[in-house]
Amino acid sequence: MYPLMLNLGNQRCLVVGGGSVALRKVEGLLLEKAHVTVVAPSPIPAIAALAQRGEIELLHRPYEAGEAGSFALVFAATSVREVNRQVSEDATSVGVWVNVADDPELCSFYLPARVRRGPLEISIASEGAAPFAVRRLRRLLEQRLGPEWGEWAKAARRFRDAIRQQQIPVETAEVLYDRFFKDTVDPTTLATRVPSMDEISEWSGADSYQDIPTPIDTKVQHIDPPSNAFALGLVSLVGAGPGDPGLLTLRGRQRLMAADAVVCDRLAMPALPCDLRNTTEIRFVGKTAGNHPIPQEEINALLIRLARAGKRVVRLKGGDPYIFGRGGEEAEVLHAASIPFEVVPGVTAAIAVPAYAGIPVTFRNEVVRVTLVTAHEAAKSGGPQVRWDLLATDPHAVLLGYMGVTSLPRIVAELLDAGMDPQTPAALIEQGTTSQQRVVTSTVQDLHAAVTREGLRPPALFAIGSTVCHREALDWFGRRPLMGERLVITHSARAFKEALELAGVAVVQVTAPISKASRLVMDALPLTGCVIATPTDAEVIDEERDAPSWHSDATAWCLSQAAADRARTLGWQRVEQVPDATNPFALVQEMAQRIRSTDTRMNTKSSWEQ
Ligand code: SAH
Repeated sequence: MYPLMLNLGNQRCLVVGGGSVALRKVEGLLLEKAHVTVVAPSPIPAIAALAQRGEIELLHRPYEAGEAGSFALVFAATSVREVNRQVSEDATSVGVWVNVADDPELCSFYLPARVRRGPLEISIASEGAAPFAVRRLRRLLEQRLGPEWGEWAKAARRFRDAIRQQQIPVETAEVLYDRFFKDTVDPTTLATRVPSMDEISEWSGADSYQDIPTPIDTKVQHIDPPSNAFALGLVSLVGAGPGDPGLLTLRGRQRLMAADAVVCDRLAMPALPCDLRNTTEIRFVGKTAGNHPIPQEEINALLIRLARAGKRVVRLKGGDPYIFGRGGEEAEVLHAASIPFEVVPGVTAAIAVPAYAGIPVTFRNEVVRVTLVTAHEAAKSGGPQVRWDLLATDPHAVLLGYMGVTSLPRIVAELLDAGMDPQTPAALIEQGTTSQQRVVTSTVQDLHAAVTREGLRPPALFAIGSTVCHREALDWFGRRPLMGERLVITHSARAFKEALELAGVAVVQVTAPISKASRLVMDALPLTGCVIATPTDAEVIDEERDAPSWHSDATAWCLSQAAADRARTLGWQRVEQVPDATNPFALVQEMAQRIRSTDTRMNTKSSWEQ
């Protein structure tokens, strides 16, 4: 068998037969801009319609002996073998290529199975021996080769044009083509990336080939070894926890570190590991309250597209993926698309946020029932309604409410109407577990007034039930001396991380050069300063000082005179040098004292806007 790609533009092609098999052939030929004639005494309506629109010539009659001979290419697809045989003989006797559907003996050519991606075409055939195997192989390739291969092929064409224009000698051009391929294709996973116009001009520019044939590896971007152990990509629906990055699970971190792509919700952003590989693609599909910038259908399509490109994908969601996070819907979509997926549960807000606010959600002899509830769905007309009446009258229950800030007055009214004791203790916790955590407590009947007075905003969780009272004794997080501080620390100051965290600091540990992920994490919440050990640290952090997340009077805590001097020359307003930089706990105490003595920040902290 000798494979060919025919240019059928304006060529006369004959299809004998008027059923659905014939229709498929006709459609394929029309795509290639052939002139198609169909001979059929009683064609199906779809074929008649093509003729009516003038897209084909339709001869409404039986096949006439000999007529196949005047075409460039002939297809027989009737249900009568005798007619098919006649067509085949007529064609072959005058040297015209003929294909008879499902009858290899009468064919002088076969049609391969095809996978098309833009100008890229992959054909698969088995000499007619095992069509079932060909079909399955085609399906596999359809799944493995994402639509980006079409764009990749177009970029390859542009690259070749650029190389040709410069009349680069053949051997040099081959080295450049190798480089293009190595840089854009992962040979094991068959994942590809589409190079930008800039890259194409850089790779084909004079600078890139003067040094050939020297080894080419240094400038070539490394494609990481395949993390993909699955034929298709894998989507891990990972819960990021409620905000404190330390509450990401070990499994979640493993999946993130192995991911080729992360599709991330805004609420999950602070939990991204700063040491995520730089090659990991990060997409935000962020939702903030009342604002859904990317429709769910697009998120679903994105997950499918990335997975079909063979990628390891992490869908990172705040809290737990299955708790009010539409994780179930996404999993169903992946299942329907036959994409392997897994769920890595996360610490949901209703468990972690009260804990950080000093509220145990159950308590022996006091609370024996916990309800997680969202009023959000019920707010939409026609949505399922919350049975507040069932939740209102159990004194041994705690009610934990998501997405309830705007509907708080209505929820409280419903509960009171249904018989809840108006004196039931209640709390609302904003941005729990983060440096921005704020807590308001009151009785349920006064909760809304208290929340309005303090100006609390989403994301926030409410807790209603007797255990709220334990907060007075158990507010371990809010009492930490440096609670509210969020500091960037450099690698050289890493020995201080634990002491800082135990003192209540949210620590963002970065390495130089600052990675893409570190930047996103830094931007996720306000930064009140940094801890640096060397002048180089000062320079590295200074590069980041334009980011909007920096507090206006952010402090550089310096562990050496040299670092402090550098920070001052770089124009930093608040530079504090810490005397005993060898003892992390002494440092923390010193920081707490200095912050307390100059505490203007407490008043301005809430002025930071998302
Ligand atoms: N899947 C998430 C919830 C998503 S719905 C989870 O399991 O936690 C978003 C809602 O979660 C917010 O409106 C808020 O009510 C709650 N929430 C998430 N993070 C929070 C936080 N750090 N503090 C307070 N509430 C939070």
